[in-house]
Amino acid sequence: MHDAHCHFDLYPDPRAACAQAAGMPAILVTTKPSAFQRACALAGDFPAIHPALGLIPQEAAALEAHLPLFLDLLPRARFVGEIGLDGVSPDPAGQAAQSRVFAAVLDACAKAGGKVLSIHSRRAATPVLDALAAHGAAFPGAVILHWFSGNAAELVRATGMGCFFSVNPAMVKSANGRALVRGMPRDRVVLESDGPFVEVDGRPAAPADGGLVVAHLAGLWGMSREAAEGLMDANFARAVGN
Ligand code: MN
Repeated sequence: MHDAHCHFDLYPDPRAACAQAAGMPAILVTTKPSAFQRACALAGDFPAIHPALGLIPQEAAALEAHLPLFLDLLPRARFVGEIGLDGVSPDPAGQAAQSRVFAAVLDACAKAGGKVLSIHSRRAATPVLDALAAHGAAFPGAVILHWFSGNAAELVRATGMGCFFSVNPAMVKSANGRALVRGMPRDRVVLESDGPFVEVDGRPAAPADGGLVVAHLAGLWGMSREAAEGLMDANFARAVGN
């Protein structure tokens, strides 16, 4: 198994959370640039865990002042996330800050090349895809859409753009999530926990909870759990380029 989007640094005991992943390849996403160095130190003891440089859209207004730090650190980060746009907040100033930050981050990633991006797009799938499309063929990195919750047309568009989709246990529990997952091409689906934010049985999700997603997809795809897990592991290896 693997975990394409886990906030290992936000568990009460981050080292224990990393150790619990037991060698599983994973992306340690962060929420602000100042967390990246600590994430690198944490991941340093766990060779399969890749630290990612992030700046979450929900805090873009407050974190915009940290954009220069993000751009300074970017050459040291092959993995970038959590980044993106969030359409839930009605605050126009916050929305404008999100758009400026995301455009600057994508510009820098496109210029650098070879990055693996974990992107948040809640109620903002179309603006996220528009921003990605603005870079067109100049965008060589892998794009993983985390907890995708757009509509069917946005899913088709994202698929056509080559995006991967990271699917967590909460998605396969909701009717809307299950309908979207059914439309995702099976060669683009990877696993995520989004722990500790996603909960499973009233406790923070862990990377091993990807087993719940594997079980759902094995049923959906009419294959064994082992085959479904192997397929998604191969997708993740392709997304991260090793
Ligand atoms: Mn997250």
